[in-house]
Amino acid sequence: MRFVYSDRYHFNIGVHVFPTDKYKLVKASLLGSGLAKESDFFEPPEPVIDDIRLVHTKEYVDDLLNLRWTSRTVRSELPLTWDIVYGYMLHTSGTILACHFALEDGIAMHIGGGFHHAFADHAEGFCYINDIAVAIKKLQKEGKIERVAVIDCDLHQGNGTARIFQDDPRVFTFSIHQEHLYPIKERSSWDIGLEDETGDEEYNQHLITAVPKIISEHKPQFVIYVAGADPYIDDQLGTLRLTKRGLALRDRIVIENCHRKGIPVVPVLAGGYALNTQDTVEIHVNTAKECLRALGQLPAGTEEQPEPVHPQN
Ligand SMILES: [Zn+2]
Repeated sequence: MRFVYSDRYHFNIGVHVFPTDKYKLVKASLLGSGLAKESDFFEPPEPVIDDIRLVHTKEYVDDLLNLRWTSRTVRSELPLTWDIVYGYMLHTSGTILACHFALEDGIAMHIGGGFHHAFADHAEGFCYINDIAVAIKKLQKEGKIERVAVIDCDLHQGNGTARIFQDDPRVFTFSIHQEHLYPIKERSSWDIGLEDETGDEEYNQHLITAVPKIISEHKPQFVIYVAGADPYIDDQLGTLRLTKRGLALRDRIVIENCHRKGIPVVPVLAGGYALNTQDTVEIHVNTAKECLRALGQLPAGTEEQPEPVHPQN
């Protein structure tokens, strides 16, 4: 399976809850565990500003390119340096590349991306550029796909993505998230707002119903799976309290349902703020395992996996 990754995703944001070193740690873990080899990783191409403008407004893109601290950039909760802006642009070309790979191979994973709080005209919540939205608009513009579903299983609602596609019936935005938490909610095509302390069983019951329904009713030709690690029990930003096993099952429900129906799927990493960054890394690596399993490429002898899921047809 092809993975998209760049060392430049590890930019310096100072002391911060967002561990930008997780990307290189995920790559190292994939290599160390024998799940991937160096030649499975692909660098994103140089960012194309016109791609970013497919989603983001001229004023906002100008602020980013000129590192201007304005009402549009200030809500990022991040510093604004060229390394950071370039890093976000690179994450965006990475998501686009992973989408191109998935169209050829069925599944490709981006060890990056998932910045679902960025709006067309402003930054929010550690997100400067909505790579998900840019990739979708780019694929549509290229005529490669029309109907898309975003299956967003990050702890937080995909508010930026929801707003960007609010008037586009070709893009179905699904978000399952902790309700009483950041952000101020936008209207997705389908939102499931969960109570605090939801846990594995109820969470995955929702997904077992929702994912096949999205596929059968919206008929997407492509799925971007926002595989945030932050619903985790030891996350610092939320209390949905899913275990690693529950999160791996979540991954399997999304990935298997798409793959069995022949729908290309690209997981992107999004959030993950576990007290111990290694937990966040392991959750993301487990997502990669579920992709490899669906493709029949999981190396023999890799550790115990969650119970099988029987998707509804
Ligand atoms: Zn999140």
